[in-house]
Amino acid sequence: MKPDFPYLIVGLGIAGTSLWRALERRGIPAFVADAGDAHAASRVAPGVVNPLAGKRLNPSWRVAEQLPVALDYYRELDALLGERVFHPTPIIRIIKDAEQREFFEKRKLQERAQSYIGREYEPDRWPGVLKDPLGSFEATASGYLDVARTVELAEALLARAGRFAKERVLAEELEVREDCVIWRGKSFGRVVFCEGWLAGKNQFFEGLPFKPAKGEMMTLRAKSGNLDSFPQAIVNRGKWILPLGNGLFRAGSTYSWDSFDDVTSEAGKDTVLNALGEFVVGEFEVLSQNAGVRPIVKDYRPVLGVSPKSDRVCMFNGLGSKGVLAAPWLAEQLLNHLEGGAPLGEMDLARFFRRK
Ligand SMILES: Cc1cc2nc3c(=O)[nH]c(=O)nc-3n(C[C@H](O)[C@H](O)[C@H](O)COP(=O)(O)OP(=O)(O)OC[C@H]3O[C@@H](n4cnc5c(N)ncnc54)[C@H](O)[C@@H]3O)c2cc1C
Repeated sequence: MKPDFPYLIVGLGIAGTSLWRALERRGIPAFVADAGDAHAASRVAPGVVNPLAGKRLNPSWRVAEQLPVALDYYRELDALLGERVFHPTPIIRIIKDAEQREFFEKRKLQERAQSYIGREYEPDRWPGVLKDPLGSFEATASGYLDVARTVELAEALLARAGRFAKERVLAEELEVREDCVIWRGKSFGRVVFCEGWLAGKNQFFEGLPFKPAKGEMMTLRAKSGNLDSFPQAIVNRGKWILPLGNGLFRAGSTYSWDSFDDVTSEAGKDTVLNALGEFVVGEFEVLSQNAGVRPIVKDYRPVLGVSPKSDRVCMFNGLGSKGVLAAPWLAEQLLNHLEGGAPLGEMDLARFFRRK
């Protein structure tokens, strides 16, 4: 039997969106279902692409492979969605302490990091705006994807094409047959769960060691300070601030490992505002605060591949804190595996099911 669609994508965050686009590029149509959870990471994240992550300024995992694919996908999405969703923007990294300065000096000499390092600045480069007593530098090849808007526009486009359902797909509802999977009267060659952190409850993938992390962030308005002269850049000193124009900013974010909801907290707000106080001159009014949950797996690697229960039921998950950089490249890797048999290596979810 020929299924109604080769693929059912469950979840339209950045993983589901990237998979939909990767399938389209291969001429394979997909149907998409998404429950629209408010605290899905893709509805909250600022979507920053930062090739030199963390205090150590280490190039992100497989960034040299991921970055060109991501930039190509997001350029295509700008055109397809009829609106600019990806904004190439430099990141100013303010050197936090002597230890980070040492890491920076080391990275400048390493070929794998050099291409992500732009201009270096002496201390006090932005007097009255930023506090940078140890200097700063510009990280290049960076920017941000308006993830929430991307997902919203993708949903509208798919809905217009009759290929979208605003529904939660329960694993128990699927009828897995030898030649297809049935969901609500439609047949599919494969189902790919792109559920974000909620995948921990999916019976096809029981035993995957999810370790999600909630994060809070805020939209701010400048109340005081010389913020008209704020650089046109994301500024990062562990926490970050992103200028949106007209005196508005986004800033974040926090990590907590024990509650997974969309409830925001005073503690979250204080953490971010106190951190901003360390490197931005001026005061802010909090316009809104929101929270989402990052889909992280114990070993901090993506989890791609097929369920130990059925080859027709697959997963695309574990995007962690850097889903925007990784998702398009990972979607390609997953399809190289499902359509062409290429090994997934360290990304294969089978690593958690192999006999010890
Ligand atoms: C505060 C915060 C800041 C972040 N900052 C950045 C950043 O700057 N840069 C970056 O790259 N990453 C960032 N991240 C991480 C990034 O957001 C994630 O890596 C990425 O969004 C995960 O995407 P996803 O599609 O896997 O999952 P999600 O975004 O969780 O999307 C899953 C989707 O599936 C739907 N769904 C789930 N289960 C079902 C079901 N059974 N049936 C139907 N639909 C279902 C959900 O409603 C949701 O729409 C941040 C995350 C947070 C929380």
